[in-house]
Amino acid sequence: MKLDPLGDLRATRQCGELRASDAGQPVLLLGWVQRRRDLGHLIFLDLRDRTGLAQIVANKQKQPEAHARADQCRSEFVIGVIGAVAKREKPNPALPSGEVEVVAEKIFLLNEARTPPFALEAETSASEETRLRHRYLDLRRPPLLRNLRTRHRVVLAIRRFLDREDFYEIETPFLTRSTPEGARDYLVPSRVHPGHFYALPQSPQLFKQLLMIAGFDRYFQIVRCFRDEDFRADRQAEFTQLDLEMSFIQPEAVFRVVEGVMKFGFAAANIPVQGPFPRLTYAEALARFGTDKPDTRFGLELADVSAVFKAARAALKIELPVHAFVVSGAAAQTSRKQLDAFADFVKQQGGRALYYAKVTDKGVESPLEKTISGRGLDWLQEATKAAAGDLILIVPADPAQVAGAPHGPTTTVIGALRAHVAQELKLIPAGKWNFLWVTDFPLFEWTPTSSGWVSSHHPFTAPADDDLDKLEAEPGKVRSKAYDLVLNGWELGSGSIRIHRQDVQQRIFRVLGLSDEEAKERFGFFLEALTYGTPPHGGIALGIDRIVALLCGEKSLREVIAFPKTAQAQDLMADAPARVSDAQLDELGLTLKPPKKT
Ligand code: ASP
Repeated sequence: MKLDPLGDLRATRQCGELRASDAGQPVLLLGWVQRRRDLGHLIFLDLRDRTGLAQIVANKQKQPEAHARADQCRSEFVIGVIGAVAKREKPNPALPSGEVEVVAEKIFLLNEARTPPFALEAETSASEETRLRHRYLDLRRPPLLRNLRTRHRVVLAIRRFLDREDFYEIETPFLTRSTPEGARDYLVPSRVHPGHFYALPQSPQLFKQLLMIAGFDRYFQIVRCFRDEDFRADRQAEFTQLDLEMSFIQPEAVFRVVEGVMKFGFAAANIPVQGPFPRLTYAEALARFGTDKPDTRFGLELADVSAVFKAARAALKIELPVHAFVVSGAAAQTSRKQLDAFADFVKQQGGRALYYAKVTDKGVESPLEKTISGRGLDWLQEATKAAAGDLILIVPADPAQVAGAPHGPTTTVIGALRAHVAQELKLIPAGKWNFLWVTDFPLFEWTPTSSGWVSSHHPFTAPADDDLDKLEAEPGKVRSKAYDLVLNGWELGSGSIRIHRQDVQQRIFRVLGLSDEEAKERFGFFLEALTYGTPPHGGIALGIDRIVALLCGEKSLREVIAFPKTAQAQDLMADAPARVSDAQLDELGLTLKPPKKT
């Protein structure tokens, strides 16, 4: 096929922006052929660029040359069109440019295209695997184009806001040492230092603190972070954070800045957000919602009904505390099958059992009657304030949790059930954006597997001033100056006021089981820096991919990342990770062991 050169063809307008008021105007459009319809003497082309579609019409009698070129066009051919905008006889209300079409005078065929492996329409039935293998084609589909445009606008609005608030954006290294965020590091072997490795940053945590020590006062960065985690459905091996840090502040200052970030970022996607956001302590969040990231768009708040089950505890083989929530008006419509499905869900979550009770006009009915008696059921109704027609769902504390982690939360199973029931029974109202700060997290968590304390957030988080003297004696009771930002049940980010005193930092490392030597070996440079006049400081990091996904109404982070990885951390298009040649391994001084049998 004979192709035309681009020469000095320049688009004068964009396809998606043509309107009735443009009728009569000459235009030059450049783009891809979305579709071609051949009516014999008339050929219609839908021409696409990143703004949308424009209809082109080529008339055999009037413009035989343009018609002949249009005849050669196929899907995804790249063409240029010179013509005049004309009002359509039959407008297409589904298209923003649907009132007009371009009558082609000349068509330039700039490139041909193979038939794409899937239709590049808004809706596609192609598997995600096929889409990811040909991501450059997938990205031509309107939803992805729209998502990446939203992402650009949101990130730009955030940058503008932070610039106005006097933050500097400063880059930090990718080739560095391990940063402790609780995941495995991606390691990069050094050729010039055989046997030595860089670690890709799990976050810029230490560097942003070093920038505070350096006196930069207000730092931010929209930055890629790398975490080699076990496969989890909606995690990305590399993801983007808005990372920020400030000096001489209390948490209030971080809250104010982040509320502004959300206000301006969401406004860029036409969603109004108003601060200040409500706050809940960690203890309150667990007691009322059974999670440290509560979705507050719906009720179903938990009630502690342990007193009702005290006597029956042994007979039921359960542990206290026992919690319940009421699904208002759901007694009649919730079938046995649905209740069984909820019970299965509780088991999947590691829970011991699910009990239920239905409040009818005649009183409370429940299979529990045999064990806790009618009086017990009346207490249950009283404790949960359930009314006639309501369903009460009850979950005892998970025994494994109670035994293994004495300070661990005991409401997480019922918390998960609460969210599941809301989803299944469609109790979540649309169009709500419920932001929330969760504060006062415990500084440490007990890990039964390694019988030791680990940081709930990371080891640079400051303990609450009032709890400093409990550090060694009662680590489980020490609260931290950490906070999370939660939106509709999603954790958007975590942050904290940091430890700025070297002596406190050392005490924390000891509680974490790191000897002074080990701490020095891993973080020596940082501990040294702390001794040179570290200002009190703190910050936060927010997940940009998650924020944009929520704004775009997408469930998967992959829908808002141009070139994402699968849940197995693979890039299906570039086929990464991949084997490397023996020569490359030799250069790095590496030999591969045979893969471990699993
Ligand atoms: N570095 C932390 C993280 O990535 C956030 C912070 O403490 O600022 O979760």
